[in-house]
Amino acid sequence: MAEPEFEQARKELISTLEASSLFEKNPEYKKALEVVSIPERIIQFRVVWENDKGECQVNKGYRVQFNSALGPYKGGLRFHPTVNLSILKFLGFEQIFKNALTGLNMGGGKGGADFDPKGKSDNEIRKFCASFMRELSKHIGADTDVPAGDIGVSGREIGWLFGTYRAMRNQWEGVLTGKGLTWGGSLIRPEATGYGLVYYVDHMINYASGGKESFAGKKVAISGSGNVAQYAALKVIELGGTVVSLSDSKGALIAPEGKGFTPEDISKIAALKVERKALTALENHSFNYIEGARPWTHVGKVDVALPSATQNEVSEDEAKALVEAGAKFIAEGSNMGCTQEAIEVFEAERRAKKGDSIWYAPGKAANAGGVAVSGLEMAQNSQRLSWTSEEVDEKLKGIMKACFENCLETAKEYITPTEGEFPSLVAGANVAGFKKVAAAM
Ligand code: GLU
Repeated sequence: MAEPEFEQARKELISTLEASSLFEKNPEYKKALEVVSIPERIIQFRVVWENDKGECQVNKGYRVQFNSALGPYKGGLRFHPTVNLSILKFLGFEQIFKNALTGLNMGGGKGGADFDPKGKSDNEIRKFCASFMRELSKHIGADTDVPAGDIGVSGREIGWLFGTYRAMRNQWEGVLTGKGLTWGGSLIRPEATGYGLVYYVDHMINYASGGKESFAGKKVAISGSGNVAQYAALKVIELGGTVVSLSDSKGALIAPEGKGFTPEDISKIAALKVERKALTALENHSFNYIEGARPWTHVGKVDVALPSATQNEVSEDEAKALVEAGAKFIAEGSNMGCTQEAIEVFEAERRAKKGDSIWYAPGKAANAGGVAVSGLEMAQNSQRLSWTSEEVDEKLKGIMKACFENCLETAKEYITPTEGEFPSLVAGANVAGFKKVAAAM
């Protein structure tokens, strides 16, 4: 069976590893690459549930337990009609190296179902979650495999899944992350992916400007309007930047010249999302709504672009448009947000312009904050303790700093940059993540 998304993610990793000195220094890692490319286990199951009319419905459920060399399988569950094995294998594969880059002990996995929460009632989603977990519960556990949310799975779904697990197994354990605060969740987990993304980019800006610049005064284009985009936007605003776009699968909202999204706009959008409504339902606003569009070719001049919706949401032409628009920093809040062709546009610019160019950071490094705080939630659950939001946020900041420095230093060590060129963060992230997993295997 053709697996285009998985092949794309694998080729992206392999191309950077082969261009580095890794295999020269560690010839045995060539075999590790072959081994790591095959999931340890894939579980596929049927999910039968009943809709509000009392009719029988059926969906396909999956869990890809990709690699456990570093710890229990860890990664989200995606409920979306496009979910298939190629998508889950790409996400699980990325998750292995992302989790390695957090510095915590987590293996990589991913799961989900081809179930579409859009247009379903709360009751139908609850019933689906219960049926899904009745099967998944046989294969997961706090020391085996710890799922979390992803697209289509947020705190509410985690609650229904967790309640079913507890009932099925008659035990309370930290088997899912992204739980509510009163039942074992961690403070800052909902914010973590978006905040972590902004912390990572802040290090890029700081490094590139020799410590002179920050997010203050920067124009930032963001795509998506879910959990990642919302908290990235709020953090950008807090740090003095202007958010000029947000979007969903139906279209993009662009701020008029000189204006940006306010925290109030973002809370209104968050409220729509809870009701599974599209951005078209946003009332009394002054943004331009562009139907069927992604933001990139419509945002005008920007300094930073944060794709935070879904995979392959920046094409080659859109990457060129961002270069034209003067964007200097591109970092993925989504997993594999940029196509391979878009990455090549950014990397070519980085090499050509030397120090005054685009700098691109892949999702497996830039969006690692979410799963990192999931790791901290697991640690709190094992200790039967809850840390304060200050403690968790400080740890998240430390993890994102270490992750950035690891990518940077690994790139310098394994791919000698030419004079004045920023080290490749995509190569650095791939070599650093892969090396850790290969050594553990
Ligand atoms: N789905 C998120 C990701 O792509 C979070 C996974 C987790 O917390 O386990 O990293």
